[in-house]
Amino acid sequence: KTRVFRFGNKSADGNSKMKNLLGGKGANLAEMSSIGIPVPPGFTITTDVCTEYNLLGQEVAIDNLKLEVEESITNIESLMGARFGDMNNPLLVSVRSGARVSMPGMMDTVLNLGINDEVVVGLAKKTDNEHFAWDSYRRFIQMYGGVVLGMKPESKEHMDPFEEIMDHLKEKRGIRSDTEFSVQDLKDLVYDFKDAVKKQTGHNFPADPWEQLWGAIIAVFNSWNGERAIYYRKMHGYPEDWGTAVNVQAMVYGNMGDNSATGVCFTRDAGTGENAFNGEYLVNAQGEDVVAGIRTPQQITKLGSLRWAELARIDEDVRVKDYPSLEELMPGSYNELVGYQQILEKHYRDMQDMEFTIQDGKLWILQTRNGKRTGAAMVKIVVDLLNEGLISEEEALLRIEPNKLDELLHPIFDPEALKTANIIAQGLPASPGAATGKIVFFADEANKFKNSILVRIETSPEDLEGMNLAKGILTARGGMTSHAAVVARGMGKCCISGAGALKINYKDRTLTVGEHEYHEGDWISLNGSTGNIIEGKVATVEPELTGEFAEIMKLADKYAIMQVRTNADTPNDARIARGFGAQGIGLTRTEHMFFEVDRIKAMREMILADTVKGRKQALNGLLPMQRSDFEGIFEAMEGFPVTIRLLDPPLHEFVPHQLATQKELADEMHISLMAVKNKVAELEEFNPMLGHRGCRLGNTYPEITEMQTRAIIEATLNLKAKGIISKPEIMVPLVGTLKEFEMQEQIIRNTAKTVFEERHDTIDYLVGTMIEIPRAALVADKIAQKADFFSFGTNDLTQMTFGYSRDDAGKFLPIYIEKGILKVDPFEVLDQEGVGELIKMATERGRRVKPNLKVGICGEHGGEPSSIEFCYKTGMNYVSCSPFRVPIARLVSAQAVI
Ligand code: ADP
Ligand code: MG
Ligand code: MG
Repeated sequence: KTRVFRFGNKSADGNSKMKNLLGGKGANLAEMSSIGIPVPPGFTITTDVCTEYNLLGQEVAIDNLKLEVEESITNIESLMGARFGDMNNPLLVSVRSGARVSMPGMMDTVLNLGINDEVVVGLAKKTDNEHFAWDSYRRFIQMYGGVVLGMKPESKEHMDPFEEIMDHLKEKRGIRSDTEFSVQDLKDLVYDFKDAVKKQTGHNFPADPWEQLWGAIIAVFNSWNGERAIYYRKMHGYPEDWGTAVNVQAMVYGNMGDNSATGVCFTRDAGTGENAFNGEYLVNAQGEDVVAGIRTPQQITKLGSLRWAELARIDEDVRVKDYPSLEELMPGSYNELVGYQQILEKHYRDMQDMEFTIQDGKLWILQTRNGKRTGAAMVKIVVDLLNEGLISEEEALLRIEPNKLDELLHPIFDPEALKTANIIAQGLPASPGAATGKIVFFADEANKFKNSILVRIETSPEDLEGMNLAKGILTARGGMTSHAAVVARGMGKCCISGAGALKINYKDRTLTVGEHEYHEGDWISLNGSTGNIIEGKVATVEPELTGEFAEIMKLADKYAIMQVRTNADTPNDARIARGFGAQGIGLTRTEHMFFEVDRIKAMREMILADTVKGRKQALNGLLPMQRSDFEGIFEAMEGFPVTIRLLDPPLHEFVPHQLATQKELADEMHISLMAVKNKVAELEEFNPMLGHRGCRLGNTYPEITEMQTRAIIEATLNLKAKGIISKPEIMVPLVGTLKEFEMQEQIIRNTAKTVFEERHDTIDYLVGTMIEIPRAALVADKIAQKADFFSFGTNDLTQMTFGYSRDDAGKFLPIYIEKGILKVDPFEVLDQEGVGELIKMATERGRRVKPNLKVGICGEHGGEPSSIEFCYKTGMNYVSCSPFRVPIARLVSAQAVI
């Protein structure tokens, strides 16, 4: 089998479809090379070899690989007219990792490999540029030392050991930027770096290019099982056995002087989605310099540069002199780059994130990929590409990641509150959003507070987990393409980068802006859309569904067959959900209505009453409140069906369990404390989840069902009198036998009849049931004889099918998932194999008896993409989910059809 695929010189063995085998980076390098984009020649070692390495070990893996790698190096040598390890005409290479999907910063890259004490002299001679040669050498030791030899900072307050040596020398020499080092400085650095390696690792720095190469290849393989990579895989659910490819590629040098540069660019704005080519670059720099925020990067386009200067408060003459755009500084290369970005975006039909290097005036492209973006940018770009005719409607819908829509549904800063906000500084609007939290300075302390803002000079790949936990990210250094910015956009997390006015002191844990000092734990707010950093907390408001987001939703509705309803217990929730496009309510829980202070009293009176008469009396007190609750909800959902579930929880949840409250209740009701205590004890259950709840309540205390039905029917009639149409669907919970349902149904229909007679008017209503007990699923055909509809209560159905108590599962579920006994939490993602089988069966059996039986789902799963798709396949009429999941469900409902 072929283990190595070559690319370069306008041809390639692989192509962009081979991402699984070549990794994303390798596949795209091959593709670019084939379509004539200038890519330095190189080769890709397949992901299979990584798997082979993990299985068979280093020796066998290298043995199998050796010949192909050596021949492929020879191939690069002939294309570049230079020789690997040659003292007079040396070829240097980069060793780059690349998994199937881009994992920014996960795997480390080594540049300038193949250099040593002799080669550096040859390189200097060949290029007639001693400064460049030694700069490349010191960079190589630094990268190889970190990535391959495992050089680490002493502690988290310390910098990278090499950076520390460089900072020392800068201070001594009174210079600020690494480009200012003299040749002698660079030689000293190389010496000191090697010394540091010897001290920390106990070994001499490897001088043999081939030893260097194999060391780097092995390091890339090893990085697949590094801590960071494992965390990232877990976060995204990527399997372990994918492995990473290794790309070995001829170096091109952006650090050859003032006619050289390196940069990163995006064909569209990754934060907002705006169709504007943008990016950053640095003159006389290499590799990650731009991303790492070592120097302040410059903008690629003039427009971007002007915008940036305004934010950074930099005068126009300073901008032109010190921070000119690539467009202004190197117009030839710029125009060429614009051409390639257009070709690549058209070719891939998506926003591209590209890396480029200019070596002495010659432009090279080093990477392209579909760029990471925020949820807002995802939506805007899809709608734009659709309008530009690059993608079809179906493709547009499929390109929306359902869970990423969540970002567009987060609260935004209240425009009113922003007017009076105290802005303490401004940075680059690296990733939009609104974040409020307490300051933390270290990524591993991000969970110190419930809401934290991670404040760093710059972030690094180690900080990933902390960045994920924080509400927002603020950095003093780095541009729009810095590590912090790119990662934050991928996570959809609010981020402000490059806020130069901030002085951060890790040791004292302080953030100073001008005169003001802020400490760990102080509140700050970030406006990721403007770059404003605001003191204290800023109030937020709910977002609205507008613009491109609304367009995508409209398109989704065009394709979707299954409807989306919401779970809402209040008129406000109903209104929000309706704003998001809910077509009715799939679940209104009535018990929450009883927990308000004045209502709970009436409820308790009812529970404590010993006679039917006493209970009815207490319930009469609740009737007007219930009725007005329902009026509110029906009105908010005017014209749409509203499913109301009758009282479900065990009664003990309503009685007080603390002595003081029990006493209060006894006094108020003029009964003895003993009587209260006795009732509480009587209601106590060993297993309340399987206890006296659901329809068991309504069947033992029919008065409750009567009162609730009356409230529902009266509310409907009251609204009807005002010209408002409501469509109540009364739902009996926790049914397990037909008889249980029949008893309830009879009470409901009789009560409704009574009310109709009293009012001399009628309305249409349905009586259905939840299917949430396995037995109900088994006898669904019987229940369907009487029920107008089924609604799967998958929370209870999951609980009872697995026999996992929802309230206790937290103790063992995480361990089960860790050990691989379960893949995911079945309370989050519907278990299609087991619980799903019951759902299918119940739906089939139900519809056998009643072909147009209305079927829906109202558990937590109704808002989870894979579960929604399952619901569609099962033939459900609707899913119901929390208001903020409604747009996600609408989208998935459409995707399921396509
Ligand atoms: P990552 O996956 O972290 O982006 P890359 O492999 O893309 O890592 O490389 C890191 C940096 O080094 C990038 O800026 C890239 O453009 C640069 N680079 C990689 N290979 C070469 C090369 N052969 N010549 C010049 N620069 C390179
Ligand atoms: Mg990197
Ligand atoms: Mg890269």
